[in-house]
Amino acid sequence: MELRRLRADLHIHTCLSPCGELAMSPRAVVDRARSVGLDLIAVTDHNTTENAAAVIEAARGTGLTVLPGIELTTAEEVHILGLFDAGADLGPFQAEVFRNLPDVPAKRKFIRDQVLVDAEDYVTGFSPRCLFGATLLSVHDAVGLIHAHGGLAVACHVDRDSFSIVSQLGFIPPNLPLDAVEVSPRLTVDEARAAFGPFDPLPAVRFSDAHKPEEIGSVTTAFVVAAPDLGEVRKALAGLDGRKVVPS
Ligand SMILES: [Zn+2]
Ligand SMILES: [Zn+2]
Repeated sequence: MELRRLRADLHIHTCLSPCGELAMSPRAVVDRARSVGLDLIAVTDHNTTENAAAVIEAARGTGLTVLPGIELTTAEEVHILGLFDAGADLGPFQAEVFRNLPDVPAKRKFIRDQVLVDAEDYVTGFSPRCLFGATLLSVHDAVGLIHAHGGLAVACHVDRDSFSIVSQLGFIPPNLPLDAVEVSPRLTVDEARAAFGPFDPLPAVRFSDAHKPEEIGSVTTAFVVAAPDLGEVRKALAGLDGRKVVPS
């Protein structure tokens, strides 16, 4: 099978995230991702997968592949990225996340509107609960839950001084079965390794963590894979069958 180099940005928020701009609608995300030449993106809102299907639908027929995902906040206030197969039924996963997310009302004074949308950018509702809070899931629970639903688990922005596994725990637990670590846009992977030590055996990736359209694709990782899907990304992270992660 022929392998291709795909440019990926797998950490993108939509208007559903309390910190995501209203401009981050499905069509805007897809248009920007295509205009900057991305092959593969993931929609990763805080503690919710609910806008992902709309972005997947908005990208249909464009050549851009969209994976559904989430940026889970654990009980320790560690951000863990969950990336799933485009065809996955995430209803049961989302129900489990909401069961573990304290039902604090979203107060518009403190956070932006959390906007649910469809593939044509029409507003279909507002998430009534504060999505930014910590869940009751430990880092081990969060990684286990993501894996139980067929996903990949990535420790987010490990070099940041808040909401990262290193800032919250002081280290990456060696028995935590992560699939990768993400370095934030402010450092290269080499700079992060110099500052924090090698992440081996975990592969390191970098994504934009976009909250506004112009940030999409500003930081990417390339995957040498046979197809733009989760199974191939999984192989690339594990270095299997010639698939690999390369700087982008
Ligand atoms: Zn984060
Ligand atoms: Zn994020």
